[in-house]
Amino acid sequence: MTAKKSEITTVKLVSNPCLPAAGMEFSSRARQRHTRLAGDRRDPYPHSLQFYQEPPTENISLTEFESFAVDRLRLLKVVENLGVSYVRSSDSYKMKLEAEFRRLKFPYKALAEDDYDARRKDHISHFILRLAYCQSEDLRRWFLQQEMDLFRYRFNELTESLRQKFLEHVNLQFEAISEDLKNELANELSTSTPGFTMTKVKEQMFYKVGLSDAVDLFRARRVFIKDGFAFVPLKDIDAIVLNNYRQKLSKALALTARSLPSIQSDERLQPLLNHLSHSYVGPDYSVQKNTGKISLDQIDALSVKSFPLCMRQLHKALRDNHHLRHGGRMQYGLFLKGIGLTLEQALEFWKKEFIRGKVDADKFDKGYAYSIRHSYGKEGRRTDYTPYSCMKIIMSNPPSQGDYHGCPFRHSEPELLKQKLQSYKIPPSGIAQILDLVKGMHYQLACQKYFELTHDLDDIGFSLNHPNQYFAESQKLLTGGRELKKEQSHLGNSQQKSSSQESMTSTSTPSSSNTTAQAELEGLEAYFTED
Ligand code: SF4
Repeated sequence: MTAKKSEITTVKLVSNPCLPAAGMEFSSRARQRHTRLAGDRRDPYPHSLQFYQEPPTENISLTEFESFAVDRLRLLKVVENLGVSYVRSSDSYKMKLEAEFRRLKFPYKALAEDDYDARRKDHISHFILRLAYCQSEDLRRWFLQQEMDLFRYRFNELTESLRQKFLEHVNLQFEAISEDLKNELANELSTSTPGFTMTKVKEQMFYKVGLSDAVDLFRARRVFIKDGFAFVPLKDIDAIVLNNYRQKLSKALALTARSLPSIQSDERLQPLLNHLSHSYVGPDYSVQKNTGKISLDQIDALSVKSFPLCMRQLHKALRDNHHLRHGGRMQYGLFLKGIGLTLEQALEFWKKEFIRGKVDADKFDKGYAYSIRHSYGKEGRRTDYTPYSCMKIIMSNPPSQGDYHGCPFRHSEPELLKQKLQSYKIPPSGIAQILDLVKGMHYQLACQKYFELTHDLDDIGFSLNHPNQYFAESQKLLTGGRELKKEQSHLGNSQQKSSSQESMTSTSTPSSSNTTAQAELEGLEAYFTED
């Protein structure tokens, strides 16, 4: 993400006791430097870990705003990936997550002396994503899940004394029961706390915790209850802390969502936040690199071998019905553009198919051709549109009856998805794994599993975020890194020239994610409204 106005524009995150991080103000002051004197008593980050209860109140530049948010998004995506691929308490999980913390410069070592910048980044980035991810139930759920996993890892990494300090810091002070009371209750504690022999009960400290703080343990019948209190061993205190954090964050997200109308009225902030919640953090797979490298007669075979399920579904629907509605044309058309279809090829491809159905050539040239030229930046505002990322496909514009766009892992009924996978010869065990991931709402991971199964791999080796990334990785694998055969036809060659001109034009006005998001908001769909 880039921000052209970053030199002159700053965003002010404003505290609002009722609506956490609800208010944001823009000012045009130059970026203010944040320095912290050693021993400053007003140090806002006395601990590396926090419950994010106080929103930031400082001015930050747009560049920082964007880079902090994108880095946290990267971190959360890694958390999601690792959470599915590894046991959370395993060494591999911890090692990989710590490496990511270091790489993205988030605080990973509790109470390190010199990580003010990392703590500040952690604090601010959490609140920016909270704003972006409070906007729908799906987004809130995803954000909450990843933040919880992140917190669990960091809390478990604390030493005993740091845990105690953190609990004091967040006002979670649980009363340890006396040795006398523990001896008196030893039998009950041992029988009600799984894994606790009498010897272990004697060794470990037990805390008296209010029932509302120990709901999870209570539900799982893992704790001794007496007189409205749960008696929790030290090792299970993390479940209580996590539960407390979940309640706070969940409430904060709901409150932030209520303040959305005021945020949505800010025309500078809203596109940014929208973009973040649909964000894809990687290359944009725009057309320049691949243009002219595939021929139209390769598409059928490619759709089977190298298209992700969403695009395979769209291609099949187009071939079957000789038509796609506008959501499908946008999603599939931009994907094809990303894999290298030139404008002339796209016009030929869509026209050939549409005139086999109910649309005659004249109607195509007058209506649909315009929208295709528009998506290639040749009409209207001449915006060079980039293919949709998985997040965008998953999170926005869900398909309705008669539509074939969207993400099949997110938008298909499990039974239909199962049938589709069976028809694509995915083995039953693979289908079961995919359906499990879908049930857990890990749609991109389900797609990764589909990639592994269709490419005979044990480990996909990359984190999938984009349908065009899927295609590129598949091609790399199937062709051993070789590029696709260039199109031999006259049409292809002539288009290659024009596409290199297009490429020059595009590079001279680099398209940032901001401008893309803005342009999207300005209504590309308006040009695709014909069904
Ligand atoms: Fe397409 Fe992404 Fe869904 Fe895979 S996860 S089917 S690439 S939208």
